[in-house]
Amino acid sequence: MADNIADLILGGDPCTHLLQEAFAFDITLTKIRCAVCDTVSGLGSLGVDGGPLQALVKCAGCGSVLMRARRTQKGYILEMHGARHLYF
Ligand SMILES: [Zn+2]
Repeated sequence: MADNIADLILGGDPCTHLLQEAFAFDITLTKIRCAVCDTVSGLGSLGVDGGPLQALVKCAGCGSVLMRARRTQKGYILEMHGARHLYF
């Protein structure tokens, strides 16, 4: 795994541009669908648990963890095992 984000940039690849477009937004304005109960909620309206090193976003319908963001010494990790989709 590359330690430097610049090592991951694929110059001129159309797939890279799609990813850049997909992640150039305010994530709190998106809607998210729960993989467990299918509830769709505005991400910014959901409750967040955690602390300074991680944030857990939970489903308003069933309480399952939709998203987990962690701060590590090397950067940030975003896990979305509990979410089916983000809509933006
Ligand atoms: Zn749910």
